[in-house]
Amino acid sequence: MSDWSKVTRPIPVPNQWTQPFWDAARRSVLELQRCQSCGHFQHPPYATCVQCVSTDLKFEPVGGKGTIYAYTIMYHTGDKRFAPAVPYASIIVELDDAPGALLAGNLLGSPYTDAKVGRRVEVIFEKLNDDITLPQFRLAR
Ligand SMILES: [Zn+2]
Repeated sequence: MSDWSKVTRPIPVPNQWTQPFWDAARRSVLELQRCQSCGHFQHPPYATCVQCVSTDLKFEPVGGKGTIYAYTIMYHTGDKRFAPAVPYASIIVELDDAPGALLAGNLLGSPYTDAKVGRRVEVIFEKLNDDITLPQFRLAR
């Protein structure tokens, strides 16, 4: 199993569009941008709705359960900081509460071979520092 304890992660840098996502994650809450005109959830956040181009967008809390939509197994260490974790599964998750919005993360707490399209996962929050907490995933319990 991957040893994430030895990985020194690059720290995400929030911008004006992503700041609410990171603020919520710091409170261990998943909030995604939702169009108030058509109801579409989208991630990552944009200045306009990707469905109807409305600018009436708000962040709303969503549950952390979802399904693996796609995955890839990372075997190479292009970024040496991730070497202790290789091989690991990088997954794309479609959340039950936000169909259409896809969230990227790593599958933690399981061998990379457990990553399969359609598998149920749930979010876990990995604190990187006082400002940034990273939403990640594990197999649903
Ligand atoms: Zn819309």
